[in-house]
Order: sequence, then structure tokens, then C-alpha cells
Amino acid sequence: MFFKDVIGQADVKARLWQMLREERVPHALLFAGPEGSGKLAMALAFASRLLCKSPGVEESCGHCQACHQSARLIHPDLHFVFPVIRPAGKSGAAVSDMFLPQWREQMATTPYFSRQTWLARMGVENQQSFIGVAEANSLITKLFTVSSQGGYRVVIVWLAEQMNEETANKLLKILEEPPAGTVFILTTNHPEKMLATILSRTQRIDFKPIPSEEMAEALMQRHGLQADDALAVARSAAGSYVKALEEVTNAADAACFFDQFVLLMRLCYMRKVKDLFEWSVQLSQWGRERQKAFLEYAQRMVRENFIYNFGRRELNFQNKKEADFSVRFARFINERNVMGIAAEISSAQRDIEQNVNPRMVFFDFALKMIMLLIR
Ligand SMILES: [Zn+2]
Repeated sequence: MFFKDVIGQADVKARLWQMLREERVPHALLFAGPEGSGKLAMALAFASRLLCKSPGVEESCGHCQACHQSARLIHPDLHFVFPVIRPAGKSGAAVSDMFLPQWREQMATTPYFSRQTWLARMGVENQQSFIGVAEANSLITKLFTVSSQGGYRVVIVWLAEQMNEETANKLLKILEEPPAGTVFILTTNHPEKMLATILSRTQRIDFKPIPSEEMAEALMQRHGLQADDALAVARSAAGSYVKALEEVTNAADAACFFDQFVLLMRLCYMRKVKDLFEWSVQLSQWGRERQKAFLEYAQRMVRENFIYNFGRRELNFQNKKEADFSVRFARFINERNVMGIAAEISSAQRDIEQNVNPRMVFFDFALKMIMLLIR
């Protein structure tokens, strides 16, 4: 991760570069600011620069062994602490190292992500995540019993507000007397939730929401969005690149769901049973959350097309592609079948929820749609 990969935050970059130029890097930094402002990305860029063996004035070189190790998050002097969950079926304390493979996977995708996304990456939806005292103990062992490669050692603590008091107090002891050359970068969305003693031991750098223009630029360059779309997404994301990315993903999902819905209706109308079976096989390979989201989408499409028949466009909430499709399709959803179709989708949603074999659920649903569509 380079500073140039961090979106916006020119003020913060300037401040960090100044620290580097003056060789006055504090041993504990606190990156504070709203979710999606790029604190973790910045922490990683800064860490890579500190660990690099032949850095430029601002950026790490990107070529040395240290840079390669930093990029893959396997540098022996780069440590991560982040909220974890109690792993199922395992006793004992949970620490970040247990989830390093998932962490590396997530960071390789993007360093802009929410706690919710991180929970999903660890395989849970709604569970308490925490930074427990075992984490502080493990850190002490690493920092005080294993010698560094020479040069800096960097500890990045993500969502530091998730430390409980015991953990924070233990960490405080290290912050008071840190091993030589160690730099702590704590990132937090909620500095107000952190212990005053921790706050007083760290040098705080505030991150502001990312301005729409800078975010739109990033969305165009990195995700190929058109200028208008990029600006619309950036504005609704209100300074959070995490939100912007979620919106981009949702839009991609919606486009895919639309295509699948159209395909399903076409195959049902033409009674292509064999193709419908293949369609069911394909959807059965999706994750369960995605299957549920598709059925939710199908439910909405049925409702929108039924309403479309009344000719009151102000009651329709469709994008252009969906509206174009309705011109020819809406008449197939009418008062004779709308309740039946809605009921079949609900029943499929229940079955998916209860872990019924999705291939059976989708195929069964498709066959019933053949019968319902001709009414
Ligand atoms: Zn380097």
C-alpha cells in the first residue's frame, strides 16, 4: 500500500511526511475519524514506508524485500491487532493471529471495509467482536521476546475502541515504555469511546470525510464508473469510501439479479425445462445470503410489474432497464397470478432460510412459475 493509493487526506499525508522528513516519528499515533475515511489504508501506507529498506522521501520503494513482505502482510515486524470473535468449537482465548488468513484476504480485496464486512469475513453475521486481554499478552510476547529485523517495528490496531478496559490498560503499559523502534498506529472511528489515558499517550491525527470530488475520481479510476454515476455514488456515500464501495457492489448485484430474473421469466415463458434446471444449478452455487437477496429482488420485480399495469408511473420505483423490461413484461403479472407468484417466492425464501437444498428450491419455484405465468 502506497500513500498514492490512499484516497484524499492530503493534510494527513503532509503531516506524516513531515514526521518522516524530520525523523520525528512518534511511538504512538492515533488515527481518528469516521468510518471509510481511509485510516487503515493510511496506517498501512505509513507502515510500509517505515519498514522499506530504500524509501523515497515520501513513498516506500515497492521493490525491496521488506516492501514485498509488507504488501502481502507477512513482514515479521508488521503486527496487526483487530477485533475478533470467539471461534466456534475452540476453547481458549481468541486473538488476531487466529484470523490472519481472513485478514490478509480482506486487505487484499480492499483496506476500506466496515466491522460488519469483517464479521462476515470471519464467517458470522451478528456477533460481538472484541479485542481481548489475550491480545495484549500476545503482543507483549512478540515485542519483548522476539527481536526485530533491525529498523522499525509497526503495530497497527484497527478499531482500537473495541479494546475493553483490561486490554487498554495492558496496552497502556507498553505505550508507556515501548520497545525501541516500535511504532503503534491505533485507528478508531470512535475516539470518544477510548480511555483518556490511551488518548493522552498517543499523538492524534484527525481524518475528515473524503470530499465527493476526490471520491468520485477514485470511483472512476478504480471501478470504471462514469463521471455522473461516480459523483452520485460519492455524494450519497457522504465521505465514506466504505459506503461508496458497498453501493458499487449493490449496483453490480442489482444488475446481475435483473439479468437472472429476466432469464428466468423468459425460460418459464418458453417452457424450457432443461434450461431451467441448469438455471437452478447455477443459482444453487451462490451463497445463501445472495440467494435470499435475489428472491427479495424477484419479489420486488413482481410487485413493480403488477403496479406498472395501472399506468401510474409515480408509484413505480424502477431504474431505466427495469422500466424498459416492464413495457413488454408487465402484462404477464396480473390480478389472476400476482398473489400466487408472491406466495411461491415467499415459500422459496422460507426454504432457503431453512437450508433446504437450493437447487430443489429454485427448480421447484421455476416449474411453478411456468404454470403461474400463463394465467
Ligand atoms: Zn522498499
